[in-house]
Amino acid sequence: MIKIEHHGGVFQIHPLIDETSSLGSIPPLWLKLIEPKIIRPGDGHWIWDGQVFPSHGLPKMKNPETGKPMSARSYVAHLFWEFADPLACKMACGVRNCLKPGHMVITLPQSPIFQTFRS
Ligand SMILES: [Zn+2]
Repeated sequence: MIKIEHHGGVFQIHPLIDETSSLGSIPPLWLKLIEPKIIRPGDGHWIWDGQVFPSHGLPKMKNPETGKPMSARSYVAHLFWEFADPLACKMACGVRNCLKPGHMVITLPQSPIFQTFRS
């Protein structure tokens, strides 16, 4: 992948996708692992229709390399950005099971935006 942007330890490694993205600009792993389980209700969010963690309801998927359960939100974030702990991804829209890359923010866990949308 090509690193296209850098902001405070976060490298954007792929342009974000939306409804107008051409097929060739969409990461193949998104198409294979995420897209088949996305519903677009028409309100702007891309809703995960796959499994969720029973404890908190966040999107859950199998890690394609280990087969172990992992956060689908984290997986999607790492398709588009390169970042390391303690940075985390959060949905700026506040919708628990939305996975639209344009609604994600990469942030410190204690930053104001993280606190704002913590539920
Ligand atoms: Zn959203």
